[in-house]
Amino acid sequence: MKTNVAEMVEAVQSRLTEVPPPSMPRHPLEAPLLELAQHLSDTQLRALLGFCVGGHNLALCLHRVARVERGNWLITPEAQLDALVELLRSARSTGPRPWLTVAFDDGYDDAAQYVLSRAPRYPDVEWLLFVCPEKNEKRLQFHWDVEPAGALADIATLKAAARLPNVSLGNHTNSHQRQILLTQEEADAEYKSSRADFMRLFGRQRHFAFPFGTPDREYELRHVQLLRELEPEGLIWSTESRPFDPDERKSGAVLPRFPVDGEWTYAQVALWICAISVRYRLRGSPYQY
Ligand SMILES: [Zn+2]
Repeated sequence: MKTNVAEMVEAVQSRLTEVPPPSMPRHPLEAPLLELAQHLSDTQLRALLGFCVGGHNLALCLHRVARVERGNWLITPEAQLDALVELLRSARSTGPRPWLTVAFDDGYDDAAQYVLSRAPRYPDVEWLLFVCPEKNEKRLQFHWDVEPAGALADIATLKAAARLPNVSLGNHTNSHQRQILLTQEEADAEYKSSRADFMRLFGRQRHFAFPFGTPDREYELRHVQLLRELEPEGLIWSTESRPFDPDERKSGAVLPRFPVDGEWTYAQVALWICAISVRYRLRGSPYQY
């Protein structure tokens, strides 16, 4: 009996514990591609991107950005991100709608400051800041943040960013749990309460990004259906790693984003995007939402 109670407590605790996003899935081609990327010039990468991505849209998913030489899974060096954005923009001309989206999850202040400075400089890029409304309002910390913890953006900063024409805010839930661990009732309550907080602070919720965000592993169709009922016109963003067809972007769609690992150079991220884009164009996506 004792063991059962202990097991129950442990099970509940493990469900409630926030864990950091997993590192990107390892792939046998990853190491050779990362090595190859170091030997390619920007001109070669630009040509490869143009060929591999073709007429598709791209969205990136990042967390923090800082003026550091070396990043980590959470923090991308500012110079590397600038170089990545410039390389991607130069690979393709812009049409009437942006084909490149740069999204930051978790509502960190350094990301908001970066968007405030770069969005006017790159008006052809769509910038998204996903916030956990309650955490940003109360300036809480994520438990994976070690000292010095990354400060979350305050509401005034986020509102200032949202006033820029090519910047939008989105909801990233209040509790930042793996959705798969929530019962239907818990997920429903989370989406409703975080949406109410988001709308009280920022207005209409047009974008939602799943915490962690891997399809079939961290969220499922039932979560997508709940979100579509609440916000039929909204866009839902995952961290499935692939480009998407411009026609996929329609009301209620689940759109993929490439997770960017801050340890990688801009050239490595660019070549990885090329490889994944080719795989997607040959095989399509295994996920149906
Ligand atoms: Zn997140």
